[in-house]
Amino acid sequence: MVDEDKLTKLRELKKKMKEDMSLPLRKTAVNLVFGEGSSDAKLLFLGEGPGYWEDQKGRPFVGNAGALLNQLLYSIKLPREEVFITNVVCYRPPENRDPLPEEIAAFEPYIDEMIEVIRPKVIVTLGRFSMAKFIPGVKITVVHGKPHGVDWKGRKLVVVPMFHPAAALRSGEVLRQAKEDFLKLPELVKDSQKIEVKQESLI
Ligand code: URA
Repeated sequence: MVDEDKLTKLRELKKKMKEDMSLPLRKTAVNLVFGEGSSDAKLLFLGEGPGYWEDQKGRPFVGNAGALLNQLLYSIKLPREEVFITNVVCYRPPENRDPLPEEIAAFEPYIDEMIEVIRPKVIVTLGRFSMAKFIPGVKITVVHGKPHGVDWKGRKLVVVPMFHPAAALRSGEVLRQAKEDFLKLPELVKDSQKIEVKQESLI
């Protein structure tokens, strides 16, 4: 059953974002890539930022990295429509450069509001920029696939850092690890209540 209240809140948030002239990167982008998926998603995927195709279509992860993300979701029998997918910046950085800290900060209230509305059981960060939002100062090669209980502005979140699909497309070994990490997700969603917030991860 669709939660109309959540859906309405997400629609309102998207409208607010579209009308927010203060957001960086909007002048060079074609479309806002707000994010898409189920407003009742148990899993929320947070990527880096829209690339060329995402910018053209106004949808997240629709290029090569998106095709791999779709395959990884298929491997755990999770329809893409049942998760929510967004990015730490919602307009494409020119030439696909890395998003700047101040750009990530400008989008942060919107991303946090999406999380607040959807209340996913698990947030999967794809790549280092979204990982650093919740778990600063760690290495993806060390923490990938491991659940972290995080106190995020007073709310307990379960965050699982994962390799970015684009990195998996560049390296067979990263792809192998990404596939392995994905297979753990259904169990992590089921057990998310049991994952404790460690004192040192309090922000
Ligand atoms: N890479 C990302 O980080 N996000 C997208 O939406 C597409 C590619």
